Amino acid sequence: MSLKHRLRDVGAQLLWSSGLTRPSRAGRDRLNIVTFHRVLPDPAASPLPHLAVTPDFLRNALRFFAQHYTCLTLSEAAKRFFDGDQPARPLLAVTFDDGRKDNFLHGVPALRAAGIRATFFVPAGRVDDTTPLWHDELGWLARHLLEEGQGDLLGSLAGRAELADRGVHAVVQHAKGLPGPERESLLTFLRQRTGGISLPQWEGPMPWSELRQLMHEGYEIGSHSLSHDVLLDRLGADQRAEVFESKRLLEENLNTEVKSFCFPTGEYDATTLGEIREAGYQCAVTTRPGSNSRDSDPYELLRHDIQGERNRVAAGAVHVPVLAWRLSDFPGTAR
Ligand SMILES: [Zn+2]
Repeated sequence: MSLKHRLRDVGAQLLWSSGLTRPSRAGRDRLNIVTFHRVLPDPAASPLPHLAVTPDFLRNALRFFAQHYTCLTLSEAAKRFFDGDQPARPLLAVTFDDGRKDNFLHGVPALRAAGIRATFFVPAGRVDDTTPLWHDELGWLARHLLEEGQGDLLGSLAGRAELADRGVHAVVQHAKGLPGPERESLLTFLRQRTGGISLPQWEGPMPWSELRQLMHEGYEIGSHSLSHDVLLDRLGADQRAEVFESKRLLEENLNTEVKSFCFPTGEYDATTLGEIREAGYQCAVTTRPGSNSRDSDPYELLRHDIQGERNRVAAGAVHVPVLAWRLSDFPGTAR
C-alpha cells in the first residue's frame, strides 16, 4: 500500500473516531445516493475495471449502509427527503447503472442478503439487444488493439497520439465528446479492424424477465435513456426520444410508473432537463460527487461513486472509516 493511502487511512480513522464522519452526524439532513455499475468476481476481466466491484466488496459496503442508513429506492428516498422527512438514520439510495446482467447474477443476491432494495437504471432500447453498450464495446475493442500493440492506430484515429499511451479509459472519455454518428463510425472501423472479438458470457443486458422479477421484489427500475447516447444538443442527440420513449417502453414492459432518470455518462444540458420535467419523471441523477441538501434540485442529484479499488484494504474488505469519509462530504474527502 502506498504512503498516500496509508496516510489517508490514518486520517479516515481519526475522523471516524472523532465522530465527524459517522453517518448519524455527517448524513443528518442529507440525501445520500451511491453509484455502482458492474459486479464482477474479477473486475480486471472488464476493459473498464474502475466501473466494477467484487461481490464481496458489495456485500460489505451494503452491510455498512444497512447498519447506518435508512435505505430506500431512489424515488422513495427522494420523495421522503424533499417532503421534509428526517428519519433517525439518514436516507440513502443504492443505484446501479447500465442494467447489465452481472447485476442480477452477483448484485441482487448481495442486496437480498442486506435487505436493501436498489434502483437499476436501464437503457430501455437495449434490453433485447445483446451487443454491448457503446462505451463497453469501445472498451473491449480498444483493449484488444492495445494488447495487440496497435495503440498508435487508436491515437491516430482520434487525432490524438497521446491516447495510444493512456489506455482504454482515455479512449472512451475521448469518444464521449464525439457526435453520435462519428462515435458510431469509430466503432464500425474498429470492429472491422479487429475482425470482431469474442466477448465473455457475462457481457450483456438483464432481460425483461429479470427486470420484471426485480420489480416484483420491490426494486425500482429507472430510465437510463434508450440507447445510452450522450444527451447533449451539440452532439446531435435525439433527446426527446431518449427521454420520453425510454419511459414509455419501460412502463409498457414493466407495467409500472417510471419515476427516475439517470443521465448516460453523466452529461446533460438545458434541453435534457426540460424534457425530463415534461416527461413526468420525479427525479434524476448525475455523476457529480457529493450528497444532497433540501435545496438541491431533484433533477440534478449528486451521487457518490463507490469504487472498490479506492475503498478496499484487502481483497473484498471495506475500510469503513474511508467509506464513511467519502459519504460525509467532509473536506479533503478520501478519493
Ligand atoms: Zn451508464
